[in-house]
Amino acid sequence: MSDDTVEKDMVVSVHYTGTLQDESVFDTSDGSDPLTFLVGHRQMIPGFEEELMGAKQGDSRTFTLEPERAYGDRDEKGVMELPREQFPEDSDEFKLEVGATLVADMEGQPAPFRILTIAAKTVTVDFNHLLAGKTLTFAAEVVELRKATEEELAHGHVHGPGGHHH
Ligand code: ZN
Repeated sequence: MSDDTVEKDMVVSVHYTGTLQDESVFDTSDGSDPLTFLVGHRQMIPGFEEELMGAKQGDSRTFTLEPERAYGDRDEKGVMELPREQFPEDSDEFKLEVGATLVADMEGQPAPFRILTIAAKTVTVDFNHLLAGKTLTFAAEVVELRKATEEELAHGHVHGPGGHHH
């Protein structure tokens, strides 16, 4: 295993900009800290890691990911109507709003969903990821690269700057 290219069990920091097919930017690290992640531990969408494999510090790569290598296809079964009474009443702390993202508890697993429409008795929600079904283009530059520590490998995430704090 080499120490100076992107591969499994390396900690990589990248600056990146992601664009949709209409060239609008959906996410960027521009103006903030680079994104730091542990390679090969499902912290990132699969295609993003695959396309950076073998890159060295300072390398830039631009690549386009079909949905299957990004956030997957949309599943229309993820769109559903729920009774209004499953949601809290509007109050100072909570207001049900179209476009808002809430998190459901699915047998202990957090499942984020968006509010699509609100009617008197029902609320239509979408459990699909916002970027599901989308083809994404990324421009990424590797700004830092290091071996993960034993502790990071055991935890499956990055510690320290840009990472997880305990
Ligand atoms: Zn940890």
